Amino acid sequence: MKITAIEIKHYLLPLDPPFKAAWDPLPRKKFPATIVRVSTDEGITGIGSGDAMLGLAGHEHLFIGQDPFEIERHWQVLDNIDFHYGRCWPLDIALWDIMGKAGGQSIAKLLDAQKFKILAYASSGEMLAPQERAERVQKLSDQGFKALKIRFHHPDPREDIKVVESVRKAVGDSLEIMVDANQGWKMPWDTGAPWDFERACQVAQALEDLNIYWLEEPLPHYDFRGLARLRQKTKIRIAGGEMNRRWHDFKEMNTLGSLDVYQPDVVLTGGITGVRQIAGWVQHKGIWFSPHTWSNGIGLMANLQLACAVSQCPFLEFPFDPPAWTPQRRDYMLHPEDRLMIDRSGYLHVPEKPGLGCELDEKALSRYEVNTVYIGEP
Ligand SMILES: [Mg+2]
Repeated sequence: MKITAIEIKHYLLPLDPPFKAAWDPLPRKKFPATIVRVSTDEGITGIGSGDAMLGLAGHEHLFIGQDPFEIERHWQVLDNIDFHYGRCWPLDIALWDIMGKAGGQSIAKLLDAQKFKILAYASSGEMLAPQERAERVQKLSDQGFKALKIRFHHPDPREDIKVVESVRKAVGDSLEIMVDANQGWKMPWDTGAPWDFERACQVAQALEDLNIYWLEEPLPHYDFRGLARLRQKTKIRIAGGEMNRRWHDFKEMNTLGSLDVYQPDVVLTGGITGVRQIAGWVQHKGIWFSPHTWSNGIGLMANLQLACAVSQCPFLEFPFDPPAWTPQRRDYMLHPEDRLMIDRSGYLHVPEKPGLGCELDEKALSRYEVNTVYIGEP
């Protein structure tokens, strides 16, 4: 099989009302998506998405005429592009989609998965008052969710802790609660300072009494030693690494013992090909791998396929915070019947369709196509 064409297109979904992501100082009025379509001489097309893929344009010739199955070679070229330009890993996803479709099996099956479902944790996006958050969590529990993640971003983290207290009081120990401090990285226009080590320690200590499942990104993404020190000081699991882009970072963090839960996302760090390897290293040491999935429906699906195949962590991130963040928004590029939702027991299932397991909603997408990449509010 040979790759015959690579096409990259950009889309913008208007968000009305805007989405107020806890980690973004600006309300989001649009939701961009870049989708790559890879065609082959056998009529199979693969799709990928989840990053703007800046820098792939102009490098298509490095893949055209090649066999999509030579994935380690393609990983090396994408890793070189990642060094010079953007995170073009959605192309790796599209190649796995082709490989799965060629063999008539899901990517998870291709990766030798022994399980095809995983418990989802509802990953919230907004910051809400304690009572309102507790009410939303009650609804999640009624829907079947067994875990959820709360965002911290108040200037004073004691305000955030009040939200966790309110949720814990409402649901007791029936749900696991994760906390995401979102201190690892910032949007380009965010000039605020991240937490320092003392603040991270104080928050971790306060959360210990609330039986928190993990504390995510309490320190900047490069503070490998600070994270390792914090991990020694608290009983709570420390999670992170969602935006660390080089596999060397994960090798170093794993050597230093920085984290209990490593969260590389296949569309942002190394593709399925690279993240599978990272998951192997960290889990060899008895540490969890549980990918970040907050990009879009295609990115979520790609991470679901890998997580089912290799993750030893019981939960997978499921971006879901209705009415602010819904499958309709998150998965707008997907055919409505391919949009992901949990079953009544809280599980996400790998679709039975081959490859990635989802089809594009071309009709809807044609309404949202734009010529340029959307970077942020002008
Ligand atoms: Mg996170």
